[in-house]
Amino acid sequence: MATTYHAIKAEKLHDATSALLRVAGSEDREAKLVADHLIEANLKGHDSHGVGMMPSYLESLRTGRHRVNRHAQIVMDAGAMLTIDGDMGFGPVIAYEAMELGIARTKQHGVAVISLRRSHHTGRIGHWAEQCAEAGIVSTHYVAGFAGRGLVAPFGGTDARFSTNPFCAGFPVPGEPPIILDFATSRLAAGKVRVALNKGEQVMPGVLLNHNGSPTTDPSVIFQEPYGALLSFGEHKGYGLALMCELMSGALSGGGTTDAETVKIPRIMNNMLSIMIDPSKLGGRGTLERDAKAFLAWVRASPPAPGVERVLVPGEPERMRKAERTANGIPVDATTWNLIAAAGESIGLSRAELHRIAGVANQP
Ligand code: NAD
Repeated sequence: MATTYHAIKAEKLHDATSALLRVAGSEDREAKLVADHLIEANLKGHDSHGVGMMPSYLESLRTGRHRVNRHAQIVMDAGAMLTIDGDMGFGPVIAYEAMELGIARTKQHGVAVISLRRSHHTGRIGHWAEQCAEAGIVSTHYVAGFAGRGLVAPFGGTDARFSTNPFCAGFPVPGEPPIILDFATSRLAAGKVRVALNKGEQVMPGVLLNHNGSPTTDPSVIFQEPYGALLSFGEHKGYGLALMCELMSGALSGGGTTDAETVKIPRIMNNMLSIMIDPSKLGGRGTLERDAKAFLAWVRASPPAPGVERVLVPGEPERMRKAERTANGIPVDATTWNLIAAAGESIGLSRAELHRIAGVANQP
């Protein structure tokens, strides 16, 4: 099926997103932080975590499972270790504030462990590693999500038992952009299955099981009953990492893990464990600069395989995509845009006004 798109400039899409958030009750700072996060995800090519999330965010606000204008609250303070409660506020605010607190503790102690619980969706986790890297801090992040039902089958299993639990690590390289490794532990992020569904496309084989536990390429099995399941990437290895993400973030923070009861609670919630390291307190900045750069140059120099232009390092594809989309606009498919506009109408922002703010003239 051919897909039609609006190509919307990042600033316009930011204006439209923050307008929607302000109508939903967000204060200006919150509207800005959430829009910053969603637009950055789109710019970096992760449309699954961009403005397409807005209908779901507005729906969970409507049902009271998610709240505007909340802040990260320290509930346990052990110096270099903090437990932070997100009060079911917007992830782009709660995680931002949690990272700010963690960065300050890392500068003080050389290391910090930040255990964040009960945040609404924390979005593209690379955003949080980038915030740490901008402050010169190395970080790893283990995340577990709740989506009101399981999404991913365990290795060797046939039905969905946990969520797409992302893992992320960021490494600042002096004088160069940071290395940002950031992925869902499922073969595809659930949002990317939603993008395929909205575009009327099938997903590649090896990603999905249907409700009988048989392989399928039909993305609807994740969103329509009878539900199927995503598979982990890398067979037992990705599954094992997903399991550790759940334990590290959920069981350590007090935010809870997925079980027969919690899996049924209708909510979107993230727990996240972030470990932050000040590299200047280890081998030192000189070592970091020399060794990291030498290694990355060595890896990049590998002769490219047929059909590959050059070897990339994690974080690079996103930066290339951002340069292209900053210049040419962010493509938002017509189905996603209609869902956003309908969600806006449901809270009192007319479609015409949303189109005016976003600079969208007509239906594509
Ligand atoms: P993905 O499969 O696109 O992998 C992205 C990672 O691989 C990036 O670090 C990227 O730089 C790297 N990469 C890609 N191509 C590369 C290449 N050729 N060479 C070197 N590195 C390369 O990511 P995904 O699994 O689709 O995840 C998308 C997003 O979804 C992530 O930002 C993740 O944090 C987010 N997510 C969030 C949640 C949540 O609940 N908050 C849940 C799942 C996923």
